[in-house]
Order: sequence, then structure tokens, then C-alpha cells
Amino acid sequence: MNEISPINSEMTALQRRDNSHYLHPFTDYSELHAEGATIQDRAEGIYIWDADGRRIIDGLAGLGCVNLGYGRQELADVAARQMKRLSYSQSFFKTSNEPAIALAAKLVQLAPRGLNHVFFANSGSEAVETALKLVHRYWKLAGKPEKNVVIAREQAYHGSTIATTSLSGNPVFYESGGGMPIAGIERIKAPYWYMNGADQSPEAFGLTAAGWLEEKILHVGPERVAAFFAEPFQGAGGAIVPPATYWPEIQNICRKYDVLLVVDEVVSGFGRTGKWFGCETFGIESPDLVTIAKGITSSYFPMSATMVSDRIASMLIEKGGEFYHGFTNSGHPVGAAVALENIRIMELESVVENAADVGHYFGELIASLADHPIVGNVRSCGLFAGIQLVADKETRRLFDESLRVGDRCSAEALQRGLALRAIGDTMALMPPLIITRPQVDEVFKITLEALDATA
Ligand code: PLP
Repeated sequence: MNEISPINSEMTALQRRDNSHYLHPFTDYSELHAEGATIQDRAEGIYIWDADGRRIIDGLAGLGCVNLGYGRQELADVAARQMKRLSYSQSFFKTSNEPAIALAAKLVQLAPRGLNHVFFANSGSEAVETALKLVHRYWKLAGKPEKNVVIAREQAYHGSTIATTSLSGNPVFYESGGGMPIAGIERIKAPYWYMNGADQSPEAFGLTAAGWLEEKILHVGPERVAAFFAEPFQGAGGAIVPPATYWPEIQNICRKYDVLLVVDEVVSGFGRTGKWFGCETFGIESPDLVTIAKGITSSYFPMSATMVSDRIASMLIEKGGEFYHGFTNSGHPVGAAVALENIRIMELESVVENAADVGHYFGELIASLADHPIVGNVRSCGLFAGIQLVADKETRRLFDESLRVGDRCSAEALQRGLALRAIGDTMALMPPLIITRPQVDEVFKITLEALDATA
């Protein structure tokens, strides 16, 4: 194919080549072709350098995944050693490999109680899709095939395949793929206090929002509801951190109606909330399935997993026969070796403790932004925060979408050397978990300057 001629004559040769051949994910192609991509060249710690040599603080840890920061020699060494020893091993057809076996055992040790089994995949979407298949398979094997409706939430994000976009709570995601959500998914509103219930205290609202699940189960019929899928805090769908009362009540409701609880920890897992798993932070004691990805290897290698409870695994093992599901690279030995090393470093350097300690400091600083004239609400948990911009603080009126205020704010931040993300008009921050207090100060200063410049 010929190279597409550039709309913008100032674009570099690399940007032009990028436009010619590379279809990026989650991208408006006409905008990209007009502006050119930011080409990232190298990275170390929490910093990325672009092709012009400009240093940018990665306030997003990539996509909430580079938890250990960039450029760790140990991870590169482990990957190289494993590639030389056993570069690939298929785990279909009764074959296994030592790193995957060791990683499964390590994950069981770290994960919430009762999740004693692991199914490996490559991406968060695949882990969630695996969980969905396991839910349906479980109820069929349990002799209750009529339990086949899954409940998920508005503003959820569970991935990009057809099934996981269907679970996600934003129609634009599945409309992009032909507008066909899969059947058997019901939706409830998110525990989004600021927009869905600020007439109550957050604690009271947490119970109200959990009650929406019970109402939906009763509406569908408990005998038909298979599972509830949810993230501990909602990331890509709007940076929504639920009140502390929400999750314990959700768990009670799932138990009451024998609805499987599937917790999507693709972003919240591996320290983001200041504990190893969001389940611990939010008081989720015994989920049936937990999906993990991103932080499992700090994205030094694509890897994900679905953690499976004894209840589901024993059904598969005792009654299941062959499970016709899996991926060529499930249980990849290089990914597993990298994940083990990533976890070893996290333990050695107390990275989760750092996320809790520095996260607390980060949360306090970010909370002070609530006084800013265009900030309506600030939400945070560990090293994750959402800063919601509003046109009118009194009435909580949002800015007109056409103004693209969030995009303007993130552009102002980037110009000053900080990558943050606009989710609509909510500015999301989730830096690498190795960030220090002085670096948090730097992030805060630029965020404030970007808000001032946007106001
Ligand atoms: N689940 C959650 C909560 C996520 O945030 C994401 C991605 O951001 C996914 C699933 C999908 O992960 P992946 O992009 O690796 O498929």
C-alpha cells in the first residue's frame, strides 16, 4: 500500500509512516492523521522520552499496567534466560511447564481466599471472556442451564472482544464492532455517588446502589441469574470509586440468591489500591472468579489469568470432560517467568506498601483539587484518582461535550510533561506504583497548572 500523504506538513517521517500502515486501537483515525502520533522512544522508572527527547511523567503507568515502572534490568534478564531455555510450551493436551506451574501456585498464595486454581490467557479481555464461559459452563454442569443471565453495570469496562464489550457499560464500544451486544446481559447503574445519588450520604448511597442489584435479580428471577460482573473500582468507564458500604452488601446479595460473583481486577489487581487486590481493599471476601492482567507482569509481557474458586474448579474437574477453551499462548513460559520476577521484585521492594503509603499522600493532595473552580468531584483509591471537571459546581452541570474540556486539560498537562487521561471530562491518574512523594508533588503541580490553563 502507498503511504498516505500527510495532512499536516510538519509531521515527521515516522509520524507519516505511522499513519500509512498502523491502525491504532481506540483511536479517531482522522484526528490521528491530522495531528500525528506522539512517538515514544524510551522509558525509565516513571518517565518516558518521546522522539524529540522530551521527558514525560507517565501519570498513567502505560494503561494502568506498568506498575513497576519502565526499564527493569531483572525483568529483561529473566525473559532472555527463559527464551533461551524454553521459549514456548503449549499447555493444551496435557503438557505443562515449570514457570507456569510456579506462577499458578504463587498467584493462589496472593489471591483472595478460596481462589485455588488459575486459567492463563494473554489479555484482560480474554481473562474476562474466560470467566464468562466458566460461569455458563458451571451452571450447565450444575444442572441449572436456565441460570444464564449475567448482570453487569453501566460505565463498566471489561474489554474489547464482542462478549466483553457487551459486558462493558458503554454502547459505543460494541457499536464500534457492528452494534451487537451478545444476548443474556442485563445492566444496572454504577455506584457513582456524585452523579447517581448525591442527595444521600455516600454510605447510604452505597447501600442504595447495591440494592439496584437485588432489584434486578428479583426482576429477572433469581433462578435465571448466573453471575454479577464488576470491577472493584470502575476505571476506564469514568473513574468511579464506590462507597465503603457498597461491596459488602453486593456480596450478601450474591450469596442470598446464589449468583456467582466475578470480580474484574484487571486494573485494580497487583497493588493499585494499596493492597495486592481490590477485593481486600473493598471487603470482597469470597469471589467465585477474579480476572487479572496488566500488573501481573507490569506489562513487560502480555499475560492474564482467571482465578477460579474451588466450587467452580471442582465442577470442571469432576463433571466437565474436556473444556474446549484456551489460547495458543496460555501459560506462556516467558510470560510466567517474567510475572514471577515481577512479583518477586514487588515483594522485595515493598511496592504494594509504597502504593498504600504514597497513595495516601497522593489522595490527600488530589482531594485538595476539589476547591478548584472547574473541579466538581475528586475520587481516589490508592494510586488511582479521577478528577471530574464541571461547568457549574453548584448544580453539577457538566461542560458541553463539544467543548472537549477533558481533552484540552490532558493536552495542557502533556505540554507541561505529564501524561494523564481524559475519560470524558474526568481526568484519570494512575502512576506507576514505585512513584515517590517528590514525584507525586511534581504530578500534582502539573495537574494544577493544567487545570488552571483549562479553566
Ligand atoms: N477489564 C478491565 C477492568 C480493564 O480496565 C481492561 C482494560 O483496560 C480490560 C478488562 C481489558 O484488558 P485488555 O485491554 O488487556 O484486553
